[in-house]
Amino acid sequence: MDPCIFCKIVNKEIPSEIVFENEKTVVIKDIHPQARVHLLAIPKKHIECINDIDDSFSEDLLAIHLAIKEAASIANVVDTGYRVISNCGSGAGQTVMHLHYHIMADKGIGEKLI
Ligand code: 5GP
Ligand code: ZN
Repeated sequence: MDPCIFCKIVNKEIPSEIVFENEKTVVIKDIHPQARVHLLAIPKKHIECINDIDDSFSEDLLAIHLAIKEAASIANVVDTGYRVISNCGSGAGQTVMHLHYHIMADKGIGEKLI
């Protein structure tokens, strides 16, 4: 039994709005957006947070960064800019204990966002 909600999203056991997916990563819309663009880049492999990254994770890290870049392109914020944030540990506000990167951007009203 795996109670991890992001593992369930990765395995399509619970629905999510998928923006982009590659072999090692899924990017979804955050269910409670805190910005006009608020996406989550999630590695398919379960680790808790950045503290648990080691050399065996190097290909996953490249895949996450390529997925972030692609999702930013889909959201039309490559040129206007976006922030990438990863909370590590409950003291930093992490609530889902499966590594993920928030992709956040705000743009002027009327511009096309996903
Ligand atoms: P954290 O606080 O751990 O850095 O971020 C967890 C994020 O996951 C929060 O922004 C929260 O809104 C989002 N989240 C939690 N559960 C779900 C879910 O079931 N679906 C989606 N799409 N986002 C979720
Ligand atoms: Zn997980």
